[in-house]
Amino acid sequence: MSAIERPDAAAVASALDFEADRTRSRIHALERDLATLRDATADSPDDEHDPEGATIAFERQQVAALLAAATARLAELEDARTRLRAGDYGQCLDCGTSIPRERLLARPAVRRCATCAARSDP
Ligand SMILES: [Zn+2]
Repeated sequence: MSAIERPDAAAVASALDFEADRTRSRIHALERDLATLRDATADSPDDEHDPEGATIAFERQQVAALLAAATARLAELEDARTRLRAGDYGQCLDCGTSIPRERLLARPAVRRCATCAARSDP
């Protein structure tokens, strides 16, 4: 093991679990919203020509996008949890350096150091 200080695994694990729980409730809420919007549009099959239907269709798209983002986020968190268990958590995916403790605690699912993230994030 390197001498570089690692965040305490228990602290990271609880940060990951906390985030995952929050994300799961968010996914739940978004799925409910989406179901409500689907019911709202089910009554008006002709939503192309119904101004309200068009608004609902747009809203439904927005909620679907948020839901996709939340689902991806949950997958990231679960992936981080797996890496934590496997013992290769906290290494930058690109350059292999140890990601600083503060960064990991602030963003427990992060997979790259700040330098590499700045290069590869859209
Ligand atoms: Zn890096």
